[in-house]
Amino acid sequence: MACPFGGATHEVSDSSPKCPLGYDTASFKLGPLSCLVCRALLFKAARCLPCRHVFCSACIARFSDCPLCGVDISGLEEDGELQKLVDQFIQGHARVRRQQQQQEEGPVVYEDASLARGSFLLQHAMRAFQAQNLESSKARLDLCVEDTREMMETKGASAEVCSQHGAVLGLLGDCLRAMGDLDGAMDKYAESVSVLQAITGVDVNAEIVHALSVSLNKLGDLKYYADDLECALALYKQALQVRDRAQAGRNDLSAESIDVVVSLAKVADVQRAMGRDSEAAEGFTAAITRLEHLTCPPSPRDESLNKRRASVLGFLHAQQQQQQQQETKAKKKQAQAP
Ligand SMILES: [Zn+2]
Ligand SMILES: [Zn+2]
Repeated sequence: MACPFGGATHEVSDSSPKCPLGYDTASFKLGPLSCLVCRALLFKAARCLPCRHVFCSACIARFSDCPLCGVDISGLEEDGELQKLVDQFIQGHARVRRQQQQQEEGPVVYEDASLARGSFLLQHAMRAFQAQNLESSKARLDLCVEDTREMMETKGASAEVCSQHGAVLGLLGDCLRAMGDLDGAMDKYAESVSVLQAITGVDVNAEIVHALSVSLNKLGDLKYYADDLECALALYKQALQVRDRAQAGRNDLSAESIDVVVSLAKVADVQRAMGRDSEAAEGFTAAITRLEHLTCPPSPRDESLNKRRASVLGFLHAQQQQQQQQETKAKKKQAQAP
C-alpha cells in the first residue's frame, strides 16, 4: 500500500511509491518519529536534558538515565514541534480518503489506504500497550475506532469491516481497563459485542466467533469483579452459546473446541461463586468429560494443542476437587445444625 507521503500518486504504477521516512506498514522501521522505549510513534514527545534525546514523556518518565546514552537525566523538556510533525504524519496516513473527497476536481488520485492505516496504527497501539504507554495506545486506538466506524458508515457493514471494528473496540476496552477506567472498558466491550452480534446471524467465521466470545467474556469478567454475578453469568453463557454453536457438534481437538470447554468452566465458576453448587459441579464435570472426549487428528500432531488440553484438564480437576470439598463442608454444617 502506498504511503500518502510518498509523492501523491498522479499515476497508478505497479511499484507503489515508498514513504520517504520508511513508515510503510509492511516495512516499518524505527525512525526519527518514534520512541526507542515503546518502539511506537512518539506520543507527547519529550527531550531528556542535558543530552536532548527524545522519547514519549510517559516512557522516559520511568528512567533516571537516558536509555540511549546513559547520561543522568537532569530534566525533561516537551518538544511540541516534533510532536506536531508526528501528528501530521499520522494525519497524512490517516486522512487519505477525506483528502480524496475534498479534492474531487483536482488531478490527484489517492488510493484508499484506510485499511493499511488501520493496521499501521493498530501496530503502534499494540507496541505502546506492551510498553505500558497506555495513553499513547489509547490515542492510536481511538483513531482506529473512528476509522472503522467511518468505514462501516460509508461502505456498509460488511462482515470484514464489522469484525475489524468489533475487534478494535475490544482492544480499546483492554486499554481502558488497564488504565483503570472500568466503566469505559465495559462500554467498549458492550459496543464490540453489539457490533459483532449484528453480523453473526449473517456471516459466521472463526474470527468473528472468537472476537465476539472474547468480548463477551471480558465484559463478563468486569461484571464478575464488580460483583454483578447474575450479569457475569448471563454473559459467560452467551459466549458459551456462540462458541458451542460455531462448533456445531464437532469434537476434534482444536483451539475452538478447547475454547468451548473454557467457556463451560467460566460458567461453572461463576455458578459456584453464586452458591449454586450442584449446577457448578455439573458444569465442571461436563467440561472435563468434553475435554477428555476430544479426538486428536491423526496427523500432524499439534503439540501445543495437546499441552493446552492437558493444562486446562489439570485446572478443571483442581476446580472440581475444590467444588467437592466446598460441598462436603456445606453438608457437614447442615448435619451439625440443630
Ligand atoms: Zn514511547
Ligand atoms: Zn541521551
